[in-house]
Parts: sequence; C-alpha cells; structure tokens
Amino acid sequence: MKWADEYRRLGVRTNADTPKDAQVAREFGAEGIGLCRTEHMFFEADRILAVREMILANDEKGRRRALDKIKPMQKGDFKEIFRVMNGLPVTIRLLDPPLHEFLPHTEAELADVAKALKTPVAEVRAKRNALHEANPMLGHRGCRLGITFPEIYEMQVRAIVEAACEVKKEKVDVEPEIMIPLVGHVNELAALRRMTVEVADEIIKASGVKLSYMVGTMIELPRAAVTADKIAEQAEFFSFGTNDLTQTTFGLSRDDAGKFLPDYVEKKILPKDPFMALDTEGVGELVRIGIEKGRKTRKKLKVGICGEHGGEPSSIEFCHQAGMNYVSCSPFRVPIARLAAAHAALKDEKKKK
Ligand code: PEP
Ligand code: MG
Repeated sequence: MKWADEYRRLGVRTNADTPKDAQVAREFGAEGIGLCRTEHMFFEADRILAVREMILANDEKGRRRALDKIKPMQKGDFKEIFRVMNGLPVTIRLLDPPLHEFLPHTEAELADVAKALKTPVAEVRAKRNALHEANPMLGHRGCRLGITFPEIYEMQVRAIVEAACEVKKEKVDVEPEIMIPLVGHVNELAALRRMTVEVADEIIKASGVKLSYMVGTMIELPRAAVTADKIAEQAEFFSFGTNDLTQTTFGLSRDDAGKFLPDYVEKKILPKDPFMALDTEGVGELVRIGIEKGRKTRKKLKVGICGEHGGEPSSIEFCHQAGMNYVSCSPFRVPIARLAAAHAALKDEKKKK
C-alpha cells in the first residue's frame, strides 16, 4: 500500500456516518470523509420519535420545537466524528431522503407520535397519508427540503458549526465542508448557501474561535452537470453523486432496477450494471462536462465522487482521468481505492513512455 500511495494522485476518502466507521476507515488509510449522510443519525431508536414529531408538526413552531430536541444529538455525533478525523477534511451532507422514509408505520408508532404532539391519532394518520409520494426519489427530497423547511437545514448547520467550534477549543483541527444535495438549479444553492453562511458566521463570531469552512454541492442531476459553470459560482466544491446521477441519466429507478438489470447484463444490452461500474460513455460524459464547466468558473474547484462507484476500480480509473481530486468510498473499500488510484496513475506513465 505504501508503494500505491507513492504513485497515486487521487485522494482517497471514505463515506462514513458514525465515529466507528470513520475510525475503521482511518485505519484503512482514508484521508478524510467525502460523505457523511446525516439522515442515518435520525433513524436511531432514541431519536426517531423527535424526527417524526418534526415531520408531522403542523407549523414551523412545532417543527422548531422538535428540531431543538434533535440538535444536541446531531451536534454530539459531529463532535465525535471531528475528533476521530482529527484535522482531516469532513464533508457533511444536509438532509437528503424524502421525509416519508421517517414516517411512523405501525399503529403503536402512530400513537407515540400523536401523544408527543398532543394531537389526535386520526389527525396524525391523515398527515402521514398526505405525505405519501408517487415518485419519492424525484420528489420532496434533497435541497428541496431545505427550500421548503429552512429550519431543518438551519438546525443542521448550527449543529455542524457549533460542534466544529467546540472541538477547535479542544485543540482538534477541523474544517467542515457543508454539502447541499440534489441541486438542479443554481438558485436553490444560492438561497441555501446564503442561509448557511449567515448562520455559520454568526456562530463563529460568537464563539471567538477561528474556523474556516466550505459550502459545496453534490452534482447528481443531469441539469446540475450541464449548468455546472453557474453552479460553481455558488459552490466551493463539487461531489459527484453518481448513484443518483446514474438513476436520473438512465431514467432508471435505483430501488427497482435489480429486478431487470441482471437480464440486461446477461443479454449484453449493457456491458455492466451501471450502478456498480460507472457508465463512462453516458453518465461519465456528464461528469466530464460538469468538471470542465465547473472549473471554467472556479479554476481550483475541489472535485470528488461519493457514489458507490468511488470504490470500484474501473470507475476510479475514470475519476483519475477526468481530473478529480479524490474518490470517496465505504471504509472497507479504501484499500481497493488506493490501489486502483495507483494503477490509474501508472497507466498514465506507461502511455507517456
Ligand atoms: C449519490 O446519489 O451518489 C449519493 C452518494 O447519495 P445517496 O446515495 O445518498 O443518494
Ligand atoms: Mg444521492
């Protein structure tokens, strides 16, 4: 692995949502976190009730009341992760999945939420049913949540920045990278960036510590890739979310494709499952366009990938050729990524000779 590290030019980060995963990934040689999915912190047994209260509240006041319960828990998680990563970069993504994923399913769960909200069960049930979406993957998720319920993202930014300031006081170095998901139009990012900077700067000023942070976005919709020059005006970094980018480029549901994609591969309609190995010709073309246009606006734009492809060797070779700065993958794939990145660099050398 030492040899591999001598040759590779791509950085290798990890996708980690918990301090434990972060620790494992560090031991495998990860050089930072490329994706911390904050929603996983919402699902834990002692938190889900407050999350459900937040989603099913009738107004902003009710949502804020529930968010006040969630914030200390998120902040605690971030502090732990920052301590483990100790100076390495940490990209934290604001809430992404459709809210209905958190909804109560059983009657007992409904009753718990109704009690917490002091609302009749029938009313909570009606609200839950109203949140049902026909196409949740294309629905009310990602930054759209931050646009309609800014208080959710505001709470998350507070939790991240307060955590960072507090660990900095413990002499742990930290530079959080706050990432906005599923952006399709620059105006979405402009509005959310403005909120993020306002909230973050106020906390930093009040804390008296010196903290720098970045605000960036995921590029995971074709529209974001082809308008990347505009999006880069508002983003200090890009991270390609190639899971969603594959889904939206092919128009192929990630959750359902498993039923028929194996036939496509067997019948040689597609050479490989595009959710496993990046489709360099189609999805990859959007990635190339995104990088080129993004760097036209911002020459030093930091670019990475955090979809599953970030741990797959042929996709890593593509990322190297496309000029990315790093790949990010699950902790156990970090050594594979380090090796694949070195192979890609060596192939370059061979070509030159
Ligand atoms: C992606 O879309 O590639 C991504 C990393 O985000 P998620 O898988 O959480 O949608
Ligand atoms: Mg995604």
